[in-house]
Amino acid sequence: MRNIAAVTRKLKWIGLLGLLGYVTPYEHLKLIWLFWLLCIFEIIAEWRIIGQSFLQLAGILVSYFRNKNQQPSFPDRAATKLYRLPFLGQWTVVNGGIDKEMSHSWSMPSQRYAYDFLILDEEGKSRLGDPRKHESYYCYNKDILAPCEGTVLSIQDGYEESLIDGKGSSNCSAKDIRGNHILISHGDHEYSLIAHIKKNSFLVGIGDRVVQGQPLAKCGNSGNSSEPHIHYQLQNGTSFYYAEGIPVGFSDITAEKRESYSRLDTRKVNQKLAQKGHVTYIERGWTVAANLTYNSGADRWHI
Ligand SMILES: [Zn+2]
Repeated sequence: MRNIAAVTRKLKWIGLLGLLGYVTPYEHLKLIWLFWLLCIFEIIAEWRIIGQSFLQLAGILVSYFRNKNQQPSFPDRAATKLYRLPFLGQWTVVNGGIDKEMSHSWSMPSQRYAYDFLILDEEGKSRLGDPRKHESYYCYNKDILAPCEGTVLSIQDGYEESLIDGKGSSNCSAKDIRGNHILISHGDHEYSLIAHIKKNSFLVGIGDRVVQGQPLAKCGNSGNSSEPHIHYQLQNGTSFYYAEGIPVGFSDITAEKRESYSRLDTRKVNQKLAQKGHVTYIERGWTVAANLTYNSGADRWHI
């Protein structure tokens, strides 16, 4: 069905020629509009993804009525626990921030303060080699670490990597835009969601207690993702649709701006990051790394 939908997705545009039936004497050309019926194949093939879009829309409405459009925001509300970056080494924020301009998705309640991370080289490139191969991307298959201690509430695994066309668009092959993902409860209504994880890479299971910095899985490209990256968000409930995002700062990190970022992304990058003590609120365009040491005796990373 997905293959049929891939063909009909293009064929349906022939329906535009139906306009000729209105602007020329050849009225029977209006019948060409019927090509739009081919959308049915897309709907059947992607009904779960379409359903998720409706749920996201419902989440916007629920949030609107719950807060009278005044969703709590930074600095009035921020994470109460100390969070660390969910990876080792230097990664770059390509989406995300604590205000509307920088936000990953301001209108989506749970994704308002989400972040997308990937690894860039000195030239501002995220890969070396064939853009269609997942292995070409620097961050692919890298460890994803627990941002804070907690309990694994849910895991979705089994979705294949989405194909990469190298043009920046997403070919979601999963039935869930998050692809393979994990939800961790940290207590006090703070939950971490990490998405687009590599199939069969999970090192923890549902119900497991995890410590901060513990490897959870590997970075992948499942779900609605145009290239391998880590999607991380902190939210105040378990639902991807109805929970609200929480601004999350990261403790003890280094953050720097690189000139080469503009080759990847021409959007504005701020000169400074908001800070509260050791906690930094990172944003799009900044390359960040956690200052960590590994305690082999305790078998864990320390900030
Ligand atoms: Zn994302």
